[in-house]
Amino acid sequence: MEIENTRVEPGEIKAFELEAGETALGPVQIPCTVISGIKKGPRLAVTAACHPMELNGVMTAARLAGEIDPEHLNGTVAIVHVQNIFGFMMKRGHISPLDGVNFGTAFSSQRAAVEEVGSVSHQGMSVSHQIANCVLENFIKDSDYLIDLHGGELHESLMSNIEILPAGDEETNERTREFAASFGFDHVWEVPVGSIPQMPSYPASGSAVLESMRLGIPAVYCEVGSEGRLEESLVDLTVQGILNAMRFLSMLPGEHRKKEPTTLVGGNVLFAGRGGLFVAKCGAGDTLEKDQVIGEIFGIRGDLLETLRCPARGVLTNVNTLGVVNPGDMLFVIGNL
Ligand SMILES: [Zn+2]
Repeated sequence: MEIENTRVEPGEIKAFELEAGETALGPVQIPCTVISGIKKGPRLAVTAACHPMELNGVMTAARLAGEIDPEHLNGTVAIVHVQNIFGFMMKRGHISPLDGVNFGTAFSSQRAAVEEVGSVSHQGMSVSHQIANCVLENFIKDSDYLIDLHGGELHESLMSNIEILPAGDEETNERTREFAASFGFDHVWEVPVGSIPQMPSYPASGSAVLESMRLGIPAVYCEVGSEGRLEESLVDLTVQGILNAMRFLSMLPGEHRKKEPTTLVGGNVLFAGRGGLFVAKCGAGDTLEKDQVIGEIFGIRGDLLETLRCPARGVLTNVNTLGVVNPGDMLFVIGNL
């Protein structure tokens, strides 16, 4: 296969920097690795650090690049090690410090049509949009599957899960469900558009996963890790999950280890109504009952300002771990059981 001017022959591994955008100082490059199997098979894209401090994915990508042997691979694995390079080098959560863009909304398969560039509706393309466009064009569009590696950001504790957005045609959605289950994770979270009442337009245009689904490419968010930490056991879990999914796709030899996940569908996201000191009364992975008190916000002098209750029975997938919050901060993500 060929990406820009880099050609990778069957049986080869190539690590290279791809020119993906530009700043006032000139071109910027993103680190990539392509592993081309000796035999034909599917093309799998693996992308990391869309959200720059979701570092479990960065180490996972590095491990995959080092461990997959092209002699035993059917097909191709195309890895982007870090997408949000400015957030990564400056250790900033969520956005790119250069242009303030949340990379998770910077992708668009319909860029020529202008109206859909994440939440932006103009023709301007800052460097995050340039890089996202480069990744979409060179890594995702010609792939058969996409794994977008995410996790908890700097102030998020997260329960490991595979998140999917059934926004493709029926066949793509069904193939995506099978692909998600093939990792062997305990939980798959399925989030159709409109299934989170507090975020009616989620998932919105501009995420790599959603755009892939619309292109008919089964795509998953692999959500593992928390708070900018690197934990070997979680990296292992992620790498083993991906290798297991690759066995399911017959990209690697060996038996696929089948395990039926618990599937959560839709859910609730709770935001702070008040500003103050935040105390969570539950942890990622906990099963929560309807009306259970899950958090409290106190004023600066200790007076109770807000009590947060769980709107419906579910599993806590993500919780804010900062003790200070402002109104509108995201506090809890709960998948419906
Ligand atoms: Zn993320």
